[in-house]
Amino acid sequence: MVLVEPVPAFRDNYIWVIGNNQYAVAVDPGDAGALQEYLEERKLELVAILCTHHHQDHVGGNLALSKQHGCPVYGPAREKIPAMTHPVSEGDLVRFEEIGASFVVMDLPGHTSGHIAYFGEGALFCGDTLFGCGCGRVFEGTMEEMHASLSRLAALPEATRVYAAHEYTLLNLRFALEVEPENPDLPARKEEDERLDRQGIPTLPSTIGLEKRTNPFLRCEDPAVMRMAARHCGKTLSASAEVFSVLRRWRNEF
Ligand SMILES: [Zn+2]
Repeated sequence: MVLVEPVPAFRDNYIWVIGNNQYAVAVDPGDAGALQEYLEERKLELVAILCTHHHQDHVGGNLALSKQHGCPVYGPAREKIPAMTHPVSEGDLVRFEEIGASFVVMDLPGHTSGHIAYFGEGALFCGDTLFGCGCGRVFEGTMEEMHASLSRLAALPEATRVYAAHEYTLLNLRFALEVEPENPDLPARKEEDERLDRQGIPTLPSTIGLEKRTNPFLRCEDPAVMRMAARHCGKTLSASAEVFSVLRRWRNEF
């Protein structure tokens, strides 16, 4: 199993660093300074940058880091990514001999229209698509696309570790409890994540299994979630994509 560590950046971003005691691959290095400090302290050589989408807080460090380390930059083929050398899309396999890890690329439109994730080694680097107990805002894609993208992630093995790009779990849990006050798995998750937060430990990674039990955006087919969404919008909802759309709008105002 490869080692994955968080480098906190800005207010609530994580730059995930995958590697060993010699080499590192960084996911979404929005802040070159924060990552550079981490690499220097541990004397690590940066061998690649992986980006999930074009937002500045995910790609802001690309130019400086790729110049300094001479490393390739992987990113979504359908988006403009600074310093990108390897545009990738659905089904592409990216392999890094130095850290003994490979990942398959998934196209996940919704948050942005070209958003991708990297899945491999039992880990999912999903940028701003799936968060702990929540999901990203739908900026460029459609609600249907985001719902389909999240449904694909829900179909990954339950043990898959979820490395999302932001620490939003506790706020998301408040919303989840509003949607599903009777979900027995939510209080347990809240207690555990609050304990981690008090100790200054990230609530991530979570797992696909935990997200399926607690994340309302992956539970659009659950009768209780459907009922709450219908009650919130005052309409009968039949399709899970409609339920998703109501939940996402509700969360925007929460
Ligand atoms: Zn974003």
